[in-house]
Amino acid sequence: MSRYIKKDYKNFISYTPGEQKNDGSYIKLNTNESPYAPAPAVLNALSRADLEALRLYPDPTGRTLKEKLAALYGVESDNIFLSNGSDDILNFAFMAFVDEDEAIAYPKISYSFYPVIARLHGINVNRVAMADGLMIDYRNFCGLGQNIVIPNPNAPTGQALTTGQIEEIVRTNPDHLVLIDEAYVDFGAESAIPLTKQYDNLLVSRTFSKYASFAGGRLGVAVGNAELIKDLASIQYATNPYNVNRLTMKLAEATVDSDAYYRANAEKIRATREHVTAALRKMGFSVLPSLANFVFVRHDKIDGRELYEELKKRYILVRHFDDPAISNYNRISIGSDEQMDALLKELAEII
Ligand SMILES: *Cc1c(COP(=O)(O)O)cnc(C)c1O
Repeated sequence: MSRYIKKDYKNFISYTPGEQKNDGSYIKLNTNESPYAPAPAVLNALSRADLEALRLYPDPTGRTLKEKLAALYGVESDNIFLSNGSDDILNFAFMAFVDEDEAIAYPKISYSFYPVIARLHGINVNRVAMADGLMIDYRNFCGLGQNIVIPNPNAPTGQALTTGQIEEIVRTNPDHLVLIDEAYVDFGAESAIPLTKQYDNLLVSRTFSKYASFAGGRLGVAVGNAELIKDLASIQYATNPYNVNRLTMKLAEATVDSDAYYRANAEKIRATREHVTAALRKMGFSVLPSLANFVFVRHDKIDGRELYEELKKRYILVRHFDDPAISNYNRISIGSDEQMDALLKELAEII
């Protein structure tokens, strides 16, 4: 840190993203990307005219893309907010809705980005206790009287709440924002988007990074009551009014048009997940039941970090977290059947 950094950030600990080794030598099962290519319509979407138009700013309202997304999600355009990946939504939401003398509550075992954004804005956190088996105990969030963020399914465990449980949390915290982070919802959980029509304190965030083979394109979408969306937009306009670039907008439109293709991929990923879960259990792994595109696993015979290191030596990357509560575990993204067969083969040798 330079001596010029502002006082508040003197001891700031930032977020560490998963390793990005993309030269083709590694099987990458560490950041939950899709193993499948974008849809053919996306690959064909950019024309010379689009590239020539790069000299112009993009439409800051994202009108065309919002209309398509509204149709897809069964809401209106003014219920939609667009951002440069969904981590941006988290950041804007914390800025827009959490007072500095208030806390944000989230599950004790959860997405490691939340405490970083809270630190960035000087917000206190409430790490809410889990139930047995690293499950979220939704009752611990009911009537809490704090702002809440919950990934559904949860990261890095893959376990999901029902919409009935989410509704209970939203209904019993009427004076606070409840943000449901649905980065992984398309792999088998239920979306809370329909509840946004009924509850003005519910914001749902989505990303194209996992389900829509678009992690490199950077598109996040928030869905909620029109007033919440306006608040988010005003903070975003104050930060970066053109936060979604022209090419991303165009490719994202083609992505929404190709939703059937991505649904089919999600089905394949679910089938692979079930097959891999069974194979891992046969090898003696404990595998948490997952509704996401990853599994969270441990084995009594080998330490979590050691397993991560052994796989890395064999050119397979998985995600290990140093948090002592979960350091026995590794999170393994669900890749193609071929990639997972290679993983299972190496694991059999290591174990
Ligand atoms: C991956 C992920 C995100 C956001 O990813 P972006 O690429 O920024 O859209 C948000 N929340 C959770 C829980 C995630 O795992």
